[in-house]
This record gives sequence, structure tokens and C-alpha cells, in this order.
Amino acid sequence: MDAGRDNQTQSRPALLGMDLGALRQVASEVGLRSFAAGQMASWLFKRGCVDFAQMTDLPKDARAILARDYEIGREEPLVESLSTDGTAKYLFRGAPGRDIESVVIPDADRATLCVSSQAGCRMNCAFCMTGRGGFQGQLTAAQIINQVLSVPQSASLTNIVFMGMGEPADNVAEVIRAIDILTAPWGMAWSPRRITVSTIGKTDGLKALLEQTQAHIAISVHNPFGGQRGQIMPVEKAYPLEEVMNLLRSYDFRHQRRLSLEYTLFAGRNDSPAHARALADIARSVDARVNLIRFHRIPGFEGHAPAQKSMEAFRDALNAAGVVATIRASRGEDIMAACGMLAGDKNNKQA
Ligand code: SF4
Repeated sequence: MDAGRDNQTQSRPALLGMDLGALRQVASEVGLRSFAAGQMASWLFKRGCVDFAQMTDLPKDARAILARDYEIGREEPLVESLSTDGTAKYLFRGAPGRDIESVVIPDADRATLCVSSQAGCRMNCAFCMTGRGGFQGQLTAAQIINQVLSVPQSASLTNIVFMGMGEPADNVAEVIRAIDILTAPWGMAWSPRRITVSTIGKTDGLKALLEQTQAHIAISVHNPFGGQRGQIMPVEKAYPLEEVMNLLRSYDFRHQRRLSLEYTLFAGRNDSPAHARALADIARSVDARVNLIRFHRIPGFEGHAPAQKSMEAFRDALNAAGVVATIRASRGEDIMAACGMLAGDKNNKQA
């Protein structure tokens, strides 16, 4: 079976996760000339087609075979939650036993979609609701693209971040296929500069993302000291931060592509001047900026966010050390849509 056609939750292969090569093969299977692949891609990715009957420039009998053997792959969200700050969270069908969530974060001049790449996550970070629920399955490229096309704000999105449920580098083939569809001229023609992939640095997957996409990269650091990082991020044992940084040092991030380091602040755990100095050293060594994230409490994890003043002092220490650092605005906390809070559960509400 072609890559991109396997779908755990759909009985027929979904066209939405196919690149132009795979669509050419589909065209040939249903008796169409290869240029029909471009027509199908246009219907799928540019014109928002949800039904084969809409593909009116394809012969009727070919449409009937397509409808019999394939699915488009479009699915509406199951549930919508709206925050008082304008953030919206959408629950989509994921894998058996776990649905997935996408978040739309509107801002003055932009609208960012936070997409999920897995149903759950096997990285088990101690401070994350997604990790707490375990891993239930990989998402296909079709399920990733569906999130982009099926949120109600799809037409007005300006940025996409792979920061929802799951570790993108742990599902790298489907994530790269989705980015290909998002950025290709025959696909959705997004600039890769408007796409960011956030990873904890699983190095094999990270290398593939660096070499096969032009998307911005964000690395989840959360502690510059390996021993301490390992206490909250088990991945440190298999993929030590030092190894991740060594890999990143072999790429040039000074032009166009951006590298950022994600750093959730926990009071008394990773917010000391020594942490700021060590983080600044790492950031300078890879030409990265730092995003500081407010921790949102989740059940079963002993920890809390520092006071705003302490967060600002930490940011100022990084800036003084020559590192561009900003505190990310916390959005959608009341609907459990903020960083670390996605659970893929329709009953998931803030306590
Ligand atoms: S923080 Fe990211 S990598 Fe860690 S458990 Fe959560 S989703 Fe997975």
C-alpha cells in the first residue's frame, strides 16, 4: 500500500493525506490520465472539496469509482469549546480510545492553529496532560490536514504550529507528508515560514524534519541541565539535550529558518539565575531565541508557575546575556487549551 493511505480510523484510503505522486497512482487506478491528479489536488487542498460529486471536471464514472474505493478524509470537529479570550478548541476523531484536539488562537493580525500529530503521546513528560493519558495511535497525514481544513477558521489561518497532542518527531513520516501537502504549489501553498514544528528532540525524527522540510523548529528544553531535565522528561535518557544541540549545531539557523527553544518555567525548579545562564549558553550556541511558557497546573504534578515578576526577571537575564527571549501569552486556560493541557477528552474541563 502507498505511504499516506494507511488510516487507522477510516475504512477506505483518504485522499487528503496523499501527495501528487500518490494521487497520480489513484488517477491511473480509476482510468484517468495523470493530469487528473492535479485536478484532484486542487479540489482537495485549494477548493475545500468534501464530496467526490463536487469534482465536476472529472468524468462521472471516475467519480463513482473514487467514491466506492476512497474517502476524501474530511471530518468535522466532534466538539467545540470557546474561551473567554477568543481561543477555540476542537475535538476531532483520533485513534480508537483517544480523540485529538486542535486549538485556534486568534490575535490582532494573525490566527494560529495548533495541530496534533498523534493520539496521545509516548514521551510521558511529567507536566503534560497529553503524556499522562498514554499513547493510543499515530495520526495520518490526512488526519493532520483535516485539522487545518475543517476548523471553522480555516480560511483565515495565518500560522500553523505542531504543538498540539503528540510528539511530531515520533510520527515523522506522516508529519513530513502533511507539511509537503501544506507547502507544495499543487497543495495548499503555505509558506514554510508560517509553519513551526515543536519537538522534544528525538534526533532521528528531528534530522528528517530538518532535511526534508523548511519549517521553523522549536525544541522543548524546559531545563538546561540533563539530570534535572530527565526528572520531568524521560526522553532525556534516550535523546540527551546535549546530543540534540550537537545535531542542531551542524545546521545553519541564521537565515530564514528559525530555531527556538521552548522553556516552561516551574517555580523553584528551573527558574534560578544558574538556569538562565546555562540556557543562554545553549541558545547562543545554536542561534536560537527562547520562548518562556507559563506552566498550567495539571492533576498529579507537583509544581507551579513562578510569579510574573520572576518570569520577567528570568526573561531579562536571558536578554542581558544576548538571547532574544519572550514570555508567551497564556491563552485558552479556561477551556483547557493552553500548553500542556490537551487531553483529547470531551469531558476535559478546567477544575
Ligand atoms: S509535552 Fe509534548 S512530548 Fe511531552 S508528553 Fe506532552 S505532547 Fe508528548
